[in-house]
Amino acid sequence: MPTLRTIFPAVFAAVLLLAPAVSARQRGDERNVFRSYYTPEYLAFRARIMAEFSGVKAGKFSEFVKPSRKDTAKNGDLKVMALTFDACGGRHSGYNAALIDYLRREQIPATLFVSGIWLEKNKSTFAELAKDPLFEIENHGLMHRLCSTEGRTMFKVHATRNLSDVIDEMELGARRISGLSGRRPLFFRSATAYTDELSLKVAKRLGMEVVSYDILSGDASKASAKTMEKNILKGARHGAVVIMHFNHPEWHEKEALEMAVPELRKRGFSFARLEDFTIQ
Ligand SMILES: [Zn+2]
Repeated sequence: MPTLRTIFPAVFAAVLLLAPAVSARQRGDERNVFRSYYTPEYLAFRARIMAEFSGVKAGKFSEFVKPSRKDTAKNGDLKVMALTFDACGGRHSGYNAALIDYLRREQIPATLFVSGIWLEKNKSTFAELAKDPLFEIENHGLMHRLCSTEGRTMFKVHATRNLSDVIDEMELGARRISGLSGRRPLFFRSATAYTDELSLKVAKRLGMEVVSYDILSGDASKASAKTMEKNILKGARHGAVVIMHFNHPEWHEKEALEMAVPELRKRGFSFARLEDFTIQ
């Protein structure tokens, strides 16, 4: 059976756009912004988690490392998909207001993965999204680093150096979100979706589940709306997680969804947030 990788090689190559290069100086500035999070309480907590996982191997490194799960929509409907949108941050900390307006107009529930660095530049927008029950806010990492406990990377993307950094990405990202919204995230997506098996275990220990995707929309490779529509319709099945972005107003997610959603609805699909699925 052909895999997504064989179907969309060019799209995969372009995934590097998910996590644009950030200068060392900019990273230093970002660390300064977050310095206040490294409290004695947090450092002790992190040390405990590190001790618990001492000697555990990193395991497989892939964008499809994920827990085996079977999703059933809580309402019993068996044709439900999850539209997920990332806000990566760094140089790309924009906001696709037209896309969010469209989701609201059509009453399409969606899951928004937000990084700490995007949030820092979009606080009022974040507050507005977090209080809208149509949206579920989830964790895209404190500084949008690819989470590898061995310091591995893909597409030359800025990555964590070790387990300690992975815990920072996950736990401090979650604390940043819950500190502003009052709700602690349940899901975590690593930058580029690549991660390793140890990171999965750490996320679980921290009360979060790592989520990758089933359908690559193609937005990060600047696909046309038509191509994105095709990708979404081709992969449509119950429980499928579609990955898109909402930090690039110049991309074509809204136009693609304007074409794909009526067709999916015609086929009997509805949409739900990730937290609306029962994981078995
Ligand atoms: Zn991202």
